Amino acid sequence: MAEMDDEKEFKERDTALEEIATRLGVRAERGKRFAELTSLRVGGAIDWVLSPQTEEQAAALVYEMDQAGIAWRALGSGSNILADDGDHHYVVLSLKELKGELEFDGERVSVPAGYSLPRLCIEVGRQGLSGIEGLGGIPGTVGGALWMNAGAYGHEIGTVTETVRVARDGKVVNVPGADVQWNYRHTSFREGELLLGGTLRLTPDDPEKIRARMEDAKSRRLATQPHGSRSAGCFFKNPPAAAIGTGKMIDELGMKGSRRGSAVISPVHANFIVTEGEGARAEDALALAEEVRERVKREHGIELEYEVELWRANRPSKKEESDEATAESDRKEPT
Ligand SMILES: Cc1cc2nc3c(=O)[nH]c(=O)nc-3n(C[C@H](O)[C@H](O)[C@H](O)COP(=O)(O)OP(=O)(O)OC[C@H]3O[C@@H](n4cnc5c(N)ncnc54)[C@H](O)[C@@H]3O)c2cc1C
Repeated sequence: MAEMDDEKEFKERDTALEEIATRLGVRAERGKRFAELTSLRVGGAIDWVLSPQTEEQAAALVYEMDQAGIAWRALGSGSNILADDGDHHYVVLSLKELKGELEFDGERVSVPAGYSLPRLCIEVGRQGLSGIEGLGGIPGTVGGALWMNAGAYGHEIGTVTETVRVARDGKVVNVPGADVQWNYRHTSFREGELLLGGTLRLTPDDPEKIRARMEDAKSRRLATQPHGSRSAGCFFKNPPAAAIGTGKMIDELGMKGSRRGSAVISPVHANFIVTEGEGARAEDALALAEEVRERVKREHGIELEYEVELWRANRPSKKEESDEATAESDRKEPT
């Protein structure tokens, strides 16, 4: 009976969604999996992927979906997400096509949310603008970086963000960067807010010096982190009160190279979980991550917090799965 209700609800949603996408001229696709859309290369089927190409189109789209009660989540490059293996019965709004062009105005650069962060770092450096060269090796889109205040090697995107363009009531609205709380890998933006782009204010400097600093950050990254592997970067945050970083803590527990099925703790950096092989499973990565959390809790009394976001399939088909998913997400969903 419940399944029939679901089927009817999904049919109505699909009809409404097709109408909205056609009217706004947004590409709507079915049959995609998170395994194709995230850097960990795991995760199950997605009902719909919608790809707006302009900020106005994206703002109108989320307004209409909200009005129609259609659940959605924003996705950049999927480089900070562990999506579980179940069927995800919501709309994924892919921002990767919202990439437009950079607009320079003196020390300022305006950038759309779907623009690649590494490419932005190169382009502003060429223009002699400094302030984000430490971020050059962080994969992903500018929208994803703004959402979680991405940072590395002494630079964080929030520090240089003058305004963020946000979708509100179907319109593009400028929110001053000073009104946003930029915390460690976390901001005050809320679930249901779509970031469309931003304007950064940078500092003029010699392009050669900027390039040298970017190269330095790149070499440090290459020397300490796995490259060419399938990861989501650091899996856990560094606990504020701990004397050592999370990677070192896990390393000292002798866990480098530990494996659960298709998931392995990187032998290069112990705070990276990497996946291997065709058909790798999110449940392996999660089981390994939980093992790490238990060991760290037992040995150090520290509750590690996830830096990657765990995206649960929101309608598990079985009751036990539903209970389990609720308990897990209560415990682990990043703030
Ligand atoms: C090898 C590797 C190294 C990494 N190193 C670092 C590092 O040094 N520092 C660091 O901070 N991170 C690092 N990361 C993590 C990741 O690259 C960053 O978090 C990045 O900013 C995520 O961008 P994304 O486009 O992939 O976002 P996604 O992973 O697609 O999304 C992340 C979150 O942002 C939200 N989001 C994305 N776009 C929007 C939007 N337009 N509007 C609203 N919400 C949005 C999503 O809903 C989700 O909640 C690393 C990852 C990898 C794979």
